[in-house]
Amino acid sequence: RVDTMKMTTKKLAFLLLFLPLTLLYSIFFHYYVAERENTASVILGSLQDVLTELSFTLSKNLDKEENLSAIRPYLDRVVAQNDFISAILVVDNQNILLKTDPHIQKIPVKEGFIFTQERSKYEQLLHKVGLEGEIRFYEGDKLKRFGLIFLFDKESLGVYIESGKDKYILLFGVMPLLVLILIALLLKYYMLSPLERLRQYAYYQSVVPDVMKLRELEAIRASMVQSFVRLENEQKELHKMARTDLLTGLSNRNALHEYLKRLFAEHERLGNEFALLFLDLDHFKVVNDSLGHDVGDKLLRSVAGEIAEVLRIQDFVARVGGDEFIIILRHYHSVNELVHVIDRIQNRIKKGWIIETQPITITSSIGVAFYPKDGSDEVSLMKHADIAMYEAKKKGRNQFYFFTEALNQEVMHHIELMRSMKGALANGEYQLYYQPKVNLTTGAICGVEALVRWIHPDKGLIPPNEFIPLAEESGFIVELGEWILRTAAMQKHEWSRRGIDIAMSINIATKQLQDMNFLAKLDRILKSTGANPKRIDFEITEYVFMDESSDNIALFNTIRKKGITVSLDDFGTGYSSLSYLKKFPIDHLKIDKSFVDDYNTERGAIFLETIVKMGQTLHMNIVAEGVETKEQMEALQKMGCTYYQGYLCSKPLPANEFETLYFLSEHE
Ligand code: C2E
Ligand code: CA
Ligand code: CA
Repeated sequence: RVDTMKMTTKKLAFLLLFLPLTLLYSIFFHYYVAERENTASVILGSLQDVLTELSFTLSKNLDKEENLSAIRPYLDRVVAQNDFISAILVVDNQNILLKTDPHIQKIPVKEGFIFTQERSKYEQLLHKVGLEGEIRFYEGDKLKRFGLIFLFDKESLGVYIESGKDKYILLFGVMPLLVLILIALLLKYYMLSPLERLRQYAYYQSVVPDVMKLRELEAIRASMVQSFVRLENEQKELHKMARTDLLTGLSNRNALHEYLKRLFAEHERLGNEFALLFLDLDHFKVVNDSLGHDVGDKLLRSVAGEIAEVLRIQDFVARVGGDEFIIILRHYHSVNELVHVIDRIQNRIKKGWIIETQPITITSSIGVAFYPKDGSDEVSLMKHADIAMYEAKKKGRNQFYFFTEALNQEVMHHIELMRSMKGALANGEYQLYYQPKVNLTTGAICGVEALVRWIHPDKGLIPPNEFIPLAEESGFIVELGEWILRTAAMQKHEWSRRGIDIAMSINIATKQLQDMNFLAKLDRILKSTGANPKRIDFEITEYVFMDESSDNIALFNTIRKKGITVSLDDFGTGYSSLSYLKKFPIDHLKIDKSFVDDYNTERGAIFLETIVKMGQTLHMNIVAEGVETKEQMEALQKMGCTYYQGYLCSKPLPANEFETLYFLSEHE
């Protein structure tokens, strides 16, 4: 860890205090030693002066050895006057001639008196025993020399020299230490502790530290507090944003998720029920596409505002997709009351809007699922409300639908079908049926429409209305359509070999045509089956022609060039923009059964006639679908319709049954 190598503020403070302190100590120690030496040197000097003076005085006054004892009082006085001298001896070689202290028996060794320059005066003074001088006088004319010795009073010397020591230690030893402690305390109080508090604050942000005494630290503290407050606000804002739909300001999916979790928990305790509404605007895409996203966004905002206004405090609304809203209603007393709220929401949305001066009318479809009856978790509850919403759409939009178990069963059935559709193809469960197309003038069978059937091993015959829309939804229709195309082409070829030379109409789904490989597949099928494209017809619904791009037009021109004809299926039921009739090469118009059913009402007859006339003008053959009665047939004949299809002649039949029918009609 790099950390451990880093200097802490504490260490730094300690170092900063310790270094000058030791420097101070060493300086003071140096002066102390010098001072002591100085004192020692002064004492020694004065003792030497006393010695010199005494030896001079004695040398001058002494004339006989016998008179030595007479100077004894004199020596006693010197000893008494001088604290540092304990005794004075007068010696002759090894004999003590005179002594001021009777206890002294022996003369100390010579070295005890020799002072040198090298050693410190203080130490010598402590360790040497005394000073040695000389008394010289003439007894007659004979020079006499005696040693004069001062013995030190070690005790007094020590006391005197060391006397300043205590004061000194107190002043220069303890005081700085106290100052050091004081500084350390101040450092701790003003810096280290506040720094630690700042660190804690940076870490936990739990307790905001008090105002700091040091201006710099206070500046840091203030800016830290400011930053944390700002961060916290930003965090709150982010938290809110993560739960808010930016466009409408309503809750979003995250918030819904949290809200549901809370409701589920509440249910555990209180057993509350609630209704989850899945609201989807009808044809919102049209608004978006035709008036632009800006208008679409504004409409969404307005709708959101309107929904929020209808709801009560305890209700909840979130936008979870482009034009999808989830509304949660609680505390209703009856389903009637609930329906009332739903009505209010739908009516509020339905009232006309004016957005950027554009008048817009929009409706909504709502699916309702109840918790816990219709789903005990978020996923199933949402799914079931969604299913109910789709049902509302299917029933014509601008309405609501309650999720029911039956509805669920139906959806499950669809899912099951979707799953087994693929396997059914491999198992050969699909079969083509053929319905004759009859010439209204001659009464002859001039063609067939191939219609797929699913013969399910358990469920029996499944009509195409049940699975074709699912196959289209899942994209499986591309695969299935290829099989249908190949099977029909094969059948067509087989029949023409056997003298049944009639047109074969094949239904082609939108997704099949959008498949990039459609033409390649078509060519491959034509080649492998050997079928003559001349009498093949593709039945296509209007939806395909809504795409008026040059690519799409070119596709039909290519198909037509092969000799294949094109029928416009279910004419009149879809988007009735007629512009595509000019742009696309269409050979036949198939009038939807619903128009044929209305043939005997005034309006219905006018409609039929108009379509037939239009077809004639545009040089198209008209095929009437779903003709069930002779009357219908005759009416169509009169109008100049070319062909008809319907139970009047025959239901769709398996290939062999159709053959029988065909040959029978030939021989009529
Ligand atoms: P469609 O193409 O409009 O087919 C005509 C439907 O009307 C057929 O229903 C036919 O059986 C039925 N029909 C014919 N004459 C009468 C009549 O006199 N009365 C009544 N009530 N009905 C009559 P089907 O075979 O159930 O097919 C339904 C729809 O399924 C077809 O409508 C077509 O859209 C789709 N479909 C059927 N087979 C295929 C197929 O091979 N490929 C594709 N892509 N769609 C298919
Ligand atoms: Ca058809
Ligand atoms: Ca049709």
